[in-house]
Amino acid sequence: MISFLFKMILKYDTIIYEDDGMRKLFDKMYKEDCEGFYKILKNNLKKEKKMFVVTANPETFMMSEKDEDLKNMLEDDETTLVPDGIGVVKAGRSIKYDIKMRITGIDIAYKLLEYGNELKKSIYLFGSKQEVLDMMKDVLDKNYPNLKIAGMTNGYVKDKDKEYKKISKLNPDIVLVALGIPAQEKLIYKHLKEFKKGIFVGVGGSFDVISGSKKRAPKFFIKCNLEWLYRIVKEPSRLKRFYNSNIKFLHVVRKYK
Ligand code: UDP
Repeated sequence: MISFLFKMILKYDTIIYEDDGMRKLFDKMYKEDCEGFYKILKNNLKKEKKMFVVTANPETFMMSEKDEDLKNMLEDDETTLVPDGIGVVKAGRSIKYDIKMRITGIDIAYKLLEYGNELKKSIYLFGSKQEVLDMMKDVLDKNYPNLKIAGMTNGYVKDKDKEYKKISKLNPDIVLVALGIPAQEKLIYKHLKEFKKGIFVGVGGSFDVISGSKKRAPKFFIKCNLEWLYRIVKEPSRLKRFYNSNIKFLHVVRKYK
């Protein structure tokens, strides 16, 4: 009975991909292991090759079906898609894409801090609360002393566009934006052409964790691909978001098979 009700809700509530949108995204998605991706990242950072990384999770897929701008952005050759979230990895595999593993925004952020420090590059942090950014500064100064902080702006400023536009003049090597999906990706994409170089990534709640203001899931959860469960238990308000993205997404993928 519960299962029947659940199916009916999903049926009513889920948009069905009209075209091959989902396959297009899986076609262009990075599918190899994370080490290979980190090499590309480091190489581009070294060579000052501009790169915009979107860490795609089920929420990204679901939103893009209702949001034409987001969809165009994801399909654009300028954006590099990586599979963030076990839902995307499993969904891809179920429709015959050989996706090796998930590559998360926070792991990419940590790698960029490491490479930026090693290569003596500069970074701009945009988004999250001011107190989190203050803590980020302490962490970066302590653990990544050769990484130059080009600037920081919290994500609660009145006019994000106006503030973000100023960053291009500073010419940073790395720009991490923590505003949540899709605001962070849209902001990066809108201004991408104004920058000559830079690795750009929307990193969601990563500053909260890197700064030490929030705890990442224990290793066991990460290893077992249960990080999502930990986040829901810690913040039950995430449950609705989880339903609206992951559960509906799996339903959509089933229709694709
Ligand atoms: N945030 C922000 N400005 C806003 C809304 C959100 O700076 O107007 C920040 C928020 O403080 C948090 C991040 O955006 O640091 C989003 O985190 P969330 O955990 O929702 O992202 P997820 O990792 O789930 O994508």
